[in-house]
Amino acid sequence: MSKKTYDAVALFSAGLDSLLAVKVVEAQGLAVKCLHFTSPFFGHPRRVGYWRRTHGLDVTAVDAGEAFVRMMLAGPRFGFGRFFNPCVDCKILMLTRARELMEHYGARFIITGEVVGQRPMSQRQDAMNSVRNESGTRDVLLRPLCALRQEPTPMETSGLVDRERLHGFWGRGRTAQLELARAFGITDIPTPAGGCLLTEESSAKRYAPIFATLAEPPAAHFYLANVGRQYWSGTHWLAIGRDKKSNDLLSELARPEDLVFVLQGHPGPLAVGRELAGPWAPEVVADAAAFVASFSPRAVASGEAVTVAVRQAGTQRTVSVTPARTTPLTWSEPTWADAAPVRDRMDPKNHP
Ligand code: SF4
Repeated sequence: MSKKTYDAVALFSAGLDSLLAVKVVEAQGLAVKCLHFTSPFFGHPRRVGYWRRTHGLDVTAVDAGEAFVRMMLAGPRFGFGRFFNPCVDCKILMLTRARELMEHYGARFIITGEVVGQRPMSQRQDAMNSVRNESGTRDVLLRPLCALRQEPTPMETSGLVDRERLHGFWGRGRTAQLELARAFGITDIPTPAGGCLLTEESSAKRYAPIFATLAEPPAAHFYLANVGRQYWSGTHWLAIGRDKKSNDLLSELARPEDLVFVLQGHPGPLAVGRELAGPWAPEVVADAAAFVASFSPRAVASGEAVTVAVRQAGTQRTVSVTPARTTPLTWSEPTWADAAPVRDRMDPKNHP
């Protein structure tokens, strides 16, 4: 069977704009491969089947996690937004990758759902020009939703794409997009953007201790940072489940070398201790176990010492501890007040 080729690849975030951009180009009889980029911070790879079924899209998830973390560590050239979001460099990274993948899919151009003036950081005209130039996509990038506000691209002047059937959307309003969605018969309207944890204080603050502690953290650390309650004491890091779902997820994310704490004899959270600076001393393990046990109301109410199983590398030991929320290690949750200076140190705009 010959391999299917495409006319275009699309950056598909799963937001309404990227969906519409794909639909506008498909309506011209062109075949589009949607690339859904994923990382610890954005992306929903498990929804690929849903988008196929609901919107008839040909979607492939592309894992950009490690490259994304490396980009942040190197210091995003165009800086960070309000929290840990390096939006302009993020777009450059995705378009550069899409450019590489064009050949694989036999595609001749790339489409995005960008609308000029819609987002303060990455969708100003000057930022959009930087994104296009820095990603090496000057001659192959089409923005179907705001094309009429841009110079015609080679795809339009060559007749491959009919410029008359593209749009000139502008600004933050959603009316034009919602009308177009209705015209395409889209009833299940996605949120404007795909959702990005780097733009939310509650998530962004969780990443700072990792950046502050390690020179080259793997993407896997940031997946762990997204789950449950996060506590740090120096370089000691504990992720504690909040409910069954987060306990299960922590169990899935735990690596063989992690310490997994499970309270015995009482219902309580599962917790993962990740050793970032060498093995934890027995008193650190006992301190963490007492702290984890303090999240079990019944263990606390028992007023007695409790047993916590600690698994690591296929072995299990038990420690007997008194549940304690305040311990010698003084575990604390990351705050944005602590995270902001870490972000500022990473931002090249602050090191001219
Ligand atoms: S919000 Fe997140 S995914 Fe979107 S451009 Fe910014 S960093 Fe990238």
